[in-house]
Amino acid sequence: MKRIYLDYNATTPVHIEVFKAMKPYLTEKWGNPSSAHWAGESIKEDIDNARKSIATSLNCNSNEIFFTSCGTESNNWVIKSVVLNSNKKNKHIITTKVEHPAVLETCKFLEKIGIKITYLNVNEHGNLNIEEFENAINEDTILISIMMANNETGVTFPIEKLAEIAAKYNIPFHTDAVQAYGKEIIDLKNLKVDFLSISGHKVYSPKGIGILFIRENNIIEPLIHGGGQEKGLRSGTENVPYIIGLGKSAEIIMENFKNKKSKLIKKIRDRFEKFLFNNLENISINGDINHRLPNTTNICFKNIETSALIKALSIEGIAVSAGSACASHKESFSHVLKAMGKTKMEALSSIRVSLGDYSEESEVLYAAERIVHWVKRLRQFSPEKS
Ligand code: PLP
Repeated sequence: MKRIYLDYNATTPVHIEVFKAMKPYLTEKWGNPSSAHWAGESIKEDIDNARKSIATSLNCNSNEIFFTSCGTESNNWVIKSVVLNSNKKNKHIITTKVEHPAVLETCKFLEKIGIKITYLNVNEHGNLNIEEFENAINEDTILISIMMANNETGVTFPIEKLAEIAAKYNIPFHTDAVQAYGKEIIDLKNLKVDFLSISGHKVYSPKGIGILFIRENNIIEPLIHGGGQEKGLRSGTENVPYIIGLGKSAEIIMENFKNKKSKLIKKIRDRFEKFLFNNLENISINGDINHRLPNTTNICFKNIETSALIKALSIEGIAVSAGSACASHKESFSHVLKAMGKTKMEALSSIRVSLGDYSEESEVLYAAERIVHWVKRLRQFSPEKS
């Protein structure tokens, strides 16, 4: 059975070039980069070269790139450390209702210790209201954390505009770019954010490596104390093979942008959607179709249960998901679709399909055919046939 993977927002396979780049650091060059003897020799330089590649892919300076263990750690680090650093009596953070749990759960924890959090609303298309955003800023605001692109719907926020407003009020701005990196060009010379999070396993590196971009002149406390690696800001012996892997991912990302890879992915995604709309009734797309990642679609099929559809497709080798991979552990329905005003029924009838570098048009269209087949079939068993 051919396996068709359409869940690249959950994770990506390790690119063969990434694996090849990493391999020597597991076998021959296994030394500790802090060692003064032969085993550690040149490894520090190799790490810095990876840092340079990542910085080039983001158009920032390499001394602004810090390695972490994942996107979740990067988000935790910046949010908690800004709170620790602030000597304001009352502390207030602005975020949105549709962030990843790595931001939302961190904020919920901080609420328990007295930090005030504003969770901004989104409209039915998943968009923010800029006026509501600006009105939420007050004299106690110490940080704004708003994602660049939503993991479930792919909806992108106008980070450039939001960061400019934050700068007007002199408030540090963090963006979770875990889903956007590699799919949209990020130019940090022009995008006035202070902090930005990235995760390796969304861009064809292994799970267990992330980045926090910290713009020069921003003061940040370490979250992890110890031997003083990463200029004393993130201790722990460097995960050398994964850092080298992520450096290679950054090179591949730059090559992909040169070759307009995301345009091709978007074309396949749009054809996939068109096929579904031509062959099924009572379906709709969740999220603003004009402000979306090129690889993602989140579709509501009226009168079916997503869990049954996902299982049926999985048996045939087709992998799609019900929103985020994290959400699949939980009973509750998507907080993103809920914030967009969708009913529980609508949310539980929705699937996320996310394409990636290895998605071929023929297999994506085959998956569309199977989805049409199963939606029709499942609707026959629905109490409200359509
Ligand atoms: N932020 C977003 C938007 C994500 O989609 C994810 C993972 O799905 C994360 C953060 C967490 O990243 P990691 O899995 O590297 O901890």
